[in-house]
Amino acid sequence: MRVLVIAPHPDDEAIGCGGALCLHAGRRDKISAVFITSGEMGLKHLTSEKARQVREAEARKSAKILGIQTVEFLRLPDWTSGEHIRKGVRLLQPILDREAPELIYLPHPQEWHPDHRAAVRLVRATSAARRHSQTRPARLRNLDTAHFVRPRRKHLGNDLPQTASR
Ligand SMILES: [Zn+2]
Repeated sequence: MRVLVIAPHPDDEAIGCGGALCLHAGRRDKISAVFITSGEMGLKHLTSEKARQVREAEARKSAKILGIQTVEFLRLPDWTSGEHIRKGVRLLQPILDREAPELIYLPHPQEWHPDHRAAVRLVRATSAARRHSQTRPARLRNLDTAHFVRPRRKHLGNDLPQTASR
């Protein structure tokens, strides 16, 4: 099976579906990942360019461990990727054509982070742009970053069990 992960930032692929990817790799599925931003805002003490390099290097290392064979970096700006959907469609379209994924892991549309929500919009817009393509539409599965989904009423944090220290 051909599997594609849409990760808004480096680490979403590992946090969101790392275990599932290891299972896919064990079945010799072909796995690719697209990083929409390079998460440069996560390393504020570095310049954007340096931070991008560090996080992309980490993503490549993570890909080796998880069994992801191909990684692509769209390099839309971290935090404001939603303002660049048209550019994202132009970049993502040839990747979808080439990889022809049968299964796509992507964020949940109600996650709070703007880049996670933008990732869903980007996949929808790209799919709409490709509706005349020959490849069958992929099945979609949400990343398990659902703890980032905005709680409807009160903050859930205090109700969570304390984790053991290790
Ligand atoms: Zn993220």
